[in-house]
Amino acid sequence: MYRYDPKSLIADEFINHEEIVETLAYADAHKDDLKLVDEILNKAEERKGLSHRDASVLLACEDPERVQRMYALAKQIKKDFYGNRIVIFAPLYLSNYCVNGCVYCPYHMKNKHIPRKKLTQEEVEREVIALQDMGHKRLAIEAGEDPKMNPIEYILECINTIYSIKHKNGAIRRVNVNIAATTVENYRKLKEAGIGTYILFQETYHKESYLQLHPTGPKHDYNYHTEAMDRAMQGGIDDVGLGVLFGLEMYRYEFAGLLMHAEHLEAVHGVGPHTISMPRIKHADDIDPSAFDNSISDEIFAKLCALVRIAVPYTGMIISTRESQAVREMVIPLGVSQISGASRTSVGGYAEDERPHDTEQFDVSDQRSLDEVVRWLMELGYIPSFCTACYREGRTGDRFMSLCKAGQIQNCCHPNALLTLKEFLMDYASEETKAIGEKLIEAELYNIPKDKVREVCKDHLDKIAQGLRDFRF
Ligand code: SAM
Repeated sequence: MYRYDPKSLIADEFINHEEIVETLAYADAHKDDLKLVDEILNKAEERKGLSHRDASVLLACEDPERVQRMYALAKQIKKDFYGNRIVIFAPLYLSNYCVNGCVYCPYHMKNKHIPRKKLTQEEVEREVIALQDMGHKRLAIEAGEDPKMNPIEYILECINTIYSIKHKNGAIRRVNVNIAATTVENYRKLKEAGIGTYILFQETYHKESYLQLHPTGPKHDYNYHTEAMDRAMQGGIDDVGLGVLFGLEMYRYEFAGLLMHAEHLEAVHGVGPHTISMPRIKHADDIDPSAFDNSISDEIFAKLCALVRIAVPYTGMIISTRESQAVREMVIPLGVSQISGASRTSVGGYAEDERPHDTEQFDVSDQRSLDEVVRWLMELGYIPSFCTACYREGRTGDRFMSLCKAGQIQNCCHPNALLTLKEFLMDYASEETKAIGEKLIEAELYNIPKDKVREVCKDHLDKIAQGLRDFRF
């Protein structure tokens, strides 16, 4: 039997099954202890985060008044730490060749009726131009796991191609990477290629279920997968993104596991995850989500988002187009800092006029254009941001966390959001979006606390209007 140890590098010790079982029992035993719940909420108000045990008690607590307090606090933390900015990105599917047997994913090896496709460098270029023409500046590249078809050299070549394309005023300035767990050496190569965040979803922290859900292929190795973030950090990548695929296992188990993973990274590497993604299982070719009986309601999903915000205030939270516009509207105020927009989850999908479905990884619920997504965010009072400044200024890992903790986001991320929004308005927006955006920028300039920063920002905005690009704080 393994002993729980957040500092251990062995998966079974830092994501310890017995510790999770005990945590859930503790949460059940204390969920109606309103005095304790209030104490935990008071602790959460200090905005220093919560342990997996405390956060699990809140998740189990159903007292309506306390649940409302959780939502209110999540909203407040989001406001204080992230302001009203929402960073926008798009996924780019490079290849759906895959040797794994993940039972929830249509790319699984045995699926014979999905066409297999891998982008050539010319096709990558076409996709990137289509994405730049929408206004995207940040991508997350996605690929199945296939050492022969998609070796690391192929991924590196694609990253290189993506960064090299300058089309009109467009440029992809940050490439995040969502590929299968790999070696320290390969992570080092990704770092050298200039990636932003390395993202890897755990899918489930429940080892027994994990082994059943990933019956064949390299991904079957639970420990190798779970220890991937440590290897990534050893390889020099200090921005890593966690996530579980909600619906596969019991959400309370996953939530405790997710927070234990964050605690482990902090304990070992001195910096927690840069982001946490919140995907839910979706219908896809060959996949019926109702086959997984742990699906969660929108209400539970919202509570999970709020509690992630409260438990790890310095970690960004990502919601993809797996969620509908309505669900996105419900969870964004609860702490989401990044969303994808105008996504196509098929290999080569962006260069097509019509959304293709044959090679899609999952059905996209929010199918609006980027212009529509930007306008919608602004109408809801958010500032859509295409900012990539932190990572290009070397503010990654603990340096980004220090910026957050020093409360400097409003003097840095806020003007950067306005500058990148201005670029979007000048180069890609419809007239209607532009009109709303210009007004928003005008008003939001006054929310930059430092006079000097505000003046410099104004000057940069003028220069963008004159045709110059890529200013940043
Ligand atoms: N193949 C890599 C890996 O195994 O990590 C790359 C990730 S894959 C392209 C991106 C993510 O999509 C997976 O980690 C999984 O959580 C998610 N996914 C797979 N099938 C899905 C489905 N039917 N609905 C929603 N998300 C799904």
